[in-house]
Amino acid sequence: MKGVYFNGKKDILVKTDLPKPNIKDDEVLVKVKYCGICGSDIESYKTGVLETPGIIIGHEFSGEIIELGENVRGWKIGDQVTVNPSLPCEECYWCLHSKENMCKWLSALGTTYDGAMAEFINVKSQRLFKIPDSISYKEAALLEPFCVALYAVEDSHFKIGDSVAVLGAGSIGLFTIQVLKLAGASEIFVIEPVESKRKLALEMGADNAFLPKKSSKINRLTKKIGPDHIFDCVGNPNTIMNAMQLVKRGGFITIIGIYPEAFEMKGFMSLVLKSVSMKGVFGYTQDIWQKAIKLLEKKNLNLKNLITNTISIEEVPEYFEFLANSEHEDIKVLVEF
Ligand SMILES: [Zn+2]
Ligand SMILES: [Zn+2]
Repeated sequence: MKGVYFNGKKDILVKTDLPKPNIKDDEVLVKVKYCGICGSDIESYKTGVLETPGIIIGHEFSGEIIELGENVRGWKIGDQVTVNPSLPCEECYWCLHSKENMCKWLSALGTTYDGAMAEFINVKSQRLFKIPDSISYKEAALLEPFCVALYAVEDSHFKIGDSVAVLGAGSIGLFTIQVLKLAGASEIFVIEPVESKRKLALEMGADNAFLPKKSSKINRLTKKIGPDHIFDCVGNPNTIMNAMQLVKRGGFITIIGIYPEAFEMKGFMSLVLKSVSMKGVFGYTQDIWQKAIKLLEKKNLNLKNLITNTISIEEVPEYFEFLANSEHEDIKVLVEF
């Protein structure tokens, strides 16, 4: 079969002679329909860290069941599915306390094990979710990043009626805006350098969107108090510093973006002087997947408009190079199989 193989920094290739995976008794074989390119795939491509070299990447996907393991119950061939790609150990303290996203031994499809940027993938049946008829395969491939945003808001100290600023309007930022709108944010400000992304942010429900250098406008619009809550969907030194400057005294900062390198932090003392609470969030739980599917089915969420391109597997290496090197306008790019 064909698959996108990650070899390390700046090194991915499309292999055409990969063996079709064998399934274990508790697994199914999924024929992949769409697999999204994630920011973390690009970050791994650029730096060689985050994802493990020597695997097929891809963790945001949808597909059809074409084979069932002997012990699999409740699923049939032809079922349309999406998959929670994380593989918690199910034994550590956090797994036993319903915090599988904090699992000490967390692994995942497409990060530590072979993923879904390939024609077929074997998946544990417990990690499957049925795609309702009203959700397309394309939208279903966006559920994974949507779950990241949904969990981030649920696990933050966000309260109904809070004013918020969302830093970064990539896919996670744009999903976070939609979740915050649903959750009852009184006012949503967005900071994003790319114009087309600011426009999308407004379409997704933001009240105002500004260039980073214009972020002081948010201070004025909140009567010099600052937003109650900042969601940093970028998580680099600049956005974290910006979050500390912007946030209300006594307010909250939730960091979703990951920055893998060391950095110098100017103005850190304002964390103390402003009595700010800062929190990181990572991943999601099975529960969140269920909620995400229900919300997508019942509410007027707009995931489709965030798909800015659909490419073939052959185009992947060149497209990674493009996404890694430019201030591009893509939000979510799907690989079609
Ligand atoms: Zn992802
Ligand atoms: Zn665990």
